[in-house]
Amino acid sequence: MRETGYWRAPGYLSYNIRGAPPSAPEHPDFLCRRYIVMFQQYSEQTCQVCEQVAAGRCPDCRQRLCIEHFPLDQHQPCSHTLERNAERSVCYVCGEPVRPTQWSSNLVAHYFDSFQCAGCKRPICDEQHTRRRVERMVIERDGMSSHRYHYILRYCDLCSPIRHFSGLIGLANWIVAGLAIILVAFFWFHH
Ligand SMILES: [Zn+2]
Ligand SMILES: [Zn+2]
Ligand SMILES: [Zn+2]
Ligand SMILES: [Zn+2]
Repeated sequence: MRETGYWRAPGYLSYNIRGAPPSAPEHPDFLCRRYIVMFQQYSEQTCQVCEQVAAGRCPDCRQRLCIEHFPLDQHQPCSHTLERNAERSVCYVCGEPVRPTQWSSNLVAHYFDSFQCAGCKRPICDEQHTRRRVERMVIERDGMSSHRYHYILRYCDLCSPIRHFSGLIGLANWIVAGLAIILVAFFWFHH
């Protein structure tokens, strides 16, 4: 805030820029350093739990967290929710306990695995009852950096074949649209 006072000092603008020492606020070096500090303040937000640089934002509690505190069991209130749901988080086929996880591989790449079937939303275990595993990546801009959020989608034995239905519906829509255009063209020319 001290610099703001400098900028407003009376008679200040009459200084010759070339003749100013490097430490003077109007010297180009000083301006560069000022912008670097501003950039660092802007990009380096700190973790809600500790003093480290924040990596991703937790999608459940919306807090910004460092790599260490990003997993669900490393911060509140998510670790509490995880404990509370522990009894219900069992594979719906074999009853094996499952735990939703999230982690950051670096400051801008984050992974989510809900251990749930993306079709029927029921918990499924990794080894035996995940028929198909797909990864979907979403890029989200956050100030000056962009974060990559990788979602691991699992499908159980029942839902794995049905997941193509949305594709079929999409195809049917295209056929209907195509037929409509042909019909309109047909009536137009035989009017
Ligand atoms: Zn932290
Ligand atoms: Zn959280
Ligand atoms: Zn299972
Ligand atoms: Zn399913």
